[in-house]
Amino acid sequence: MSYKNPIENLYDRLTTTFENVNEQSKKRLEAYDASQLSRRIRINTGPFSGPSSDHNTKEIVLNQRFLTLIWCITYIIYEVTANKTKEAKHVTENYMEIDGQDPEVKQLDWLFNWAFDLKDGGDEQWPEGLPDPAMTTETVRIVNVIFIDAITYIMYHEVAHLVNDHWSSYKDIAEKKYLGFDLTEDEIVLSKQLEQEADTFAYESLISQDDSDEVRYHKLFGMIMAGLSTLFAHPKGSKLNDDIHPGSHIRIFNTRLREGFDRGNEFRLNRTMNTGLSMFCKLHGINIERRKFEEFTELLDYLFELIQNHADEKLKH
Ligand SMILES: [Zn+2]
Repeated sequence: MSYKNPIENLYDRLTTTFENVNEQSKKRLEAYDASQLSRRIRINTGPFSGPSSDHNTKEIVLNQRFLTLIWCITYIIYEVTANKTKEAKHVTENYMEIDGQDPEVKQLDWLFNWAFDLKDGGDEQWPEGLPDPAMTTETVRIVNVIFIDAITYIMYHEVAHLVNDHWSSYKDIAEKKYLGFDLTEDEIVLSKQLEQEADTFAYESLISQDDSDEVRYHKLFGMIMAGLSTLFAHPKGSKLNDDIHPGSHIRIFNTRLREGFDRGNEFRLNRTMNTGLSMFCKLHGINIERRKFEEFTELLDYLFELIQNHADEKLKH
C-alpha cells in the first residue's frame, strides 16, 4: 500500500475554507473566469518548494513537504505558547527559554528536526508517536484550524499574483534573475511592491468588516503563523533579504500591525511572535541578550532588530 501523509486529510477542508472565507471573497472568486484563476489547486509531491502560482495553468501550487513543515511549525509554536509556558524559564520579560529535559519538549524537538529535514530531501514518512493532523486531540483540532487559516492566507496571496496579472510586470525580472543578472533599483522596488500588494490582497480577502473580534483574532493569528512558519521554510543558503521579496520578518511585523485587539488577545499574539522569533534566533545561533523590557512590544522590536542584522547573511539551515 502506498504511504498516505496525514496532511492529506486536511486538503478537502483547505479547499472548502479557501472557497468560503466570507460572502465578499466568495463572490470575488466566482467572478474570476478560467483565464484568470483555475478552480483546481495543484498539490505538488516532489522536492520541497515554496507556494507558487502557475501563470500558464492559473493554478495555485502547494508543495506537500512545505505544507507538512508549516503544520509542524504551527503545532510547535502553538503548543509551546499555549501549554509550555509554565515550564519556560523566561517568557514575557525576556525571550522564551524552554526546559529541554521535559519529555514533551523533547518530542517537539523531534517533530521539528524531522519536519525541518523535509527541506533537504528527508524521509516523508511521519514518525510514529509524534503529533499529526489526523489525530483527534484538542491541540491538534486547534492547530488544524490555525493551519488552515495560515494556508488560506498564503493561497489568497497567490490568487493576487494570478488575477492581478503580476506575471506580465514580473516576467522580465524573473528571467533576468534566472540568468544571474543583477536587478536595477527600479526592478527591486517593483518586485517588492508586487509582493506587498499580494499580502494586502490576501489580508483584505480574509478579514471582513462583519467579523466578530474573535474571528478577526483567529484569522490574524493564522496570518502571523503563516509568516512565522515561512521564516523557517526559507531555503538553506538563501537570505531573508533578497531582491524579490520583502524579508519574511518584515512581513510578519507588517501583518501584526494591521489589527489591534483587547489586552488578552494582544498578549497571546505577542507571545506567539516571541516564541517563533526566539526559536528562529536559537536555530541560527543569533545571540539574545538577557534584558528586561518595559513593554512586550519592546521585546519584539529587539528580536526584529536581531533578525534584521542577520537578514543579509546566507541562512545556514
Ligand atoms: Zn508572492
